[in-house]
Amino acid sequence: MHVVVVGAGVIGLSSAWYLAREGLQVTVVERNQDVALETSFANGGQLSYDYVAPLADPSVLANLPRWLLARNAPLSLQPRLDLRQWRWCLAFLRACRASRVERTVVEMLRLSHRSQALMKQLLQEAPIDFNLRQTGKLVIHRSPESLKAATRLVELQQRAGSQQHILSSMECSDLEPTLAGVTGRLAGGVYTPGEATGDCRLFCEGLKRHLDGMTNVRFELGQVVSGFDKVGKRLVAVRLGHERLEADAFVIASGIASVGLVKPLGIDLPLYPLRGYSLSVQPSSDTLVPRLSITDASRKILYAPLGNTLRIAAMVDMGVCSPEAPKRRIDLLKAQAAEVFPMLSLHQAQPWAGLRPATALGKPIIDKAPGQENLWLNVGHGALGFTLACASGEMIAQRITRPTADDSTTAFTLAAHR
Ligand SMILES: Cc1cc2nc3c(=O)[nH]c(=O)nc-3n(C[C@H](O)[C@H](O)[C@H](O)COP(=O)(O)OP(=O)(O)OC[C@H]3O[C@@H](n4cnc5c(N)ncnc54)[C@H](O)[C@@H]3O)c2cc1C
Repeated sequence: MHVVVVGAGVIGLSSAWYLAREGLQVTVVERNQDVALETSFANGGQLSYDYVAPLADPSVLANLPRWLLARNAPLSLQPRLDLRQWRWCLAFLRACRASRVERTVVEMLRLSHRSQALMKQLLQEAPIDFNLRQTGKLVIHRSPESLKAATRLVELQQRAGSQQHILSSMECSDLEPTLAGVTGRLAGGVYTPGEATGDCRLFCEGLKRHLDGMTNVRFELGQVVSGFDKVGKRLVAVRLGHERLEADAFVIASGIASVGLVKPLGIDLPLYPLRGYSLSVQPSSDTLVPRLSITDASRKILYAPLGNTLRIAAMVDMGVCSPEAPKRRIDLLKAQAAEVFPMLSLHQAQPWAGLRPATALGKPIIDKAPGQENLWLNVGHGALGFTLACASGEMIAQRITRPTADDSTTAFTLAAHR
């Protein structure tokens, strides 16, 4: 059986890996000349296996009016005359209900814990140096209300198997001394010792090298999939300019571009781009940098040590479709980071922006496409694609080769998002 995977971000590559291990012939088609040049390029680097709460939660609802009016808010919305935007925003507001959030967290933890186990296995079979380190993760909260809401989430996550501890502000700075300057402004934090960080792009490049070494995998780089050829309900080929590539099954793992790709097939994917930003900083050897992965909950900024680089990632901009990094948002991110870590020299920091391919519920779609016999979707990983890549790749490979849905796969069907 020959499978074409469209997209060589972290989701397409992990899909290719698990399909190839099932013994299938795999061709990965990617429009760029190399892998991981879009949203998987310079993301926050967190392997957030125990921390999978969706962006939509009751606290977002409470903060929304303030955020939408403030120029320096972590979340911004550019309203557009675009039905898709309003439909997605309404679904997002509905997803903020506490009962819905709880269900999503439990479903996502199953996927993320599976991903954690699979990542270990993958690295034993295919060693990749991507600055992976079990740093542990500390989420700092500035207000008692925010810490209280986090405590409720921790209780839920602990019931689902996560190991997390609530810390006072002093305990936060004891654990991570670089936070000493802000201790007085913190209400406390949540510490998750099992979390890790790594460089997603290096992971993708390493995985490609292993895939290159497999006789049943081929890459078509610099090739844009422009459409599909169909016979009845079966796709028979993807169109690549004037050429066509035939296969028995097709996996769409094209990030946010998946929406436009499958639209001509009558498939309306409930994804919306949420633009986020990162800074990559190479601190001098005598600068004290955080040892842990840190998330500043109120500002939605995360700090991840990746080898000699500190990755700072943040913000959610809705209503923008290009992966540009406007100076205004980058300057704001630098100013907010400098306030927490004044020892960092940020003028040389490398800015980047990426479009999170987000569903309103905050969980991916790993499913057969409706009305198609051999088209599969592995999309919508939003803010957690690196974390969820291994389990999502395994799940799509299992669904293609052994098409009996179990409980965990049904949580990620397209129908579960309607
Ligand atoms: C600021 C920021 C911080 C983040 N931090 C984290 C984090 O700390 N931890 C975490 O787990 N996740 C994080 N994420 C999320 C994560 O980066 C994404 O979920 C993940 O990269 C999505 O991967 P993907 O493979 O679906 O998409 P992409 O990486 O965008 O890959 C899709 C690929 O498909 C290709 N493609 C599209 N259309 C076509 C076509 N027609 N023909 C051929 N090829 C095509 C594209 O060129 C691209 O290479 C973050 C995201 C952002 C923006």
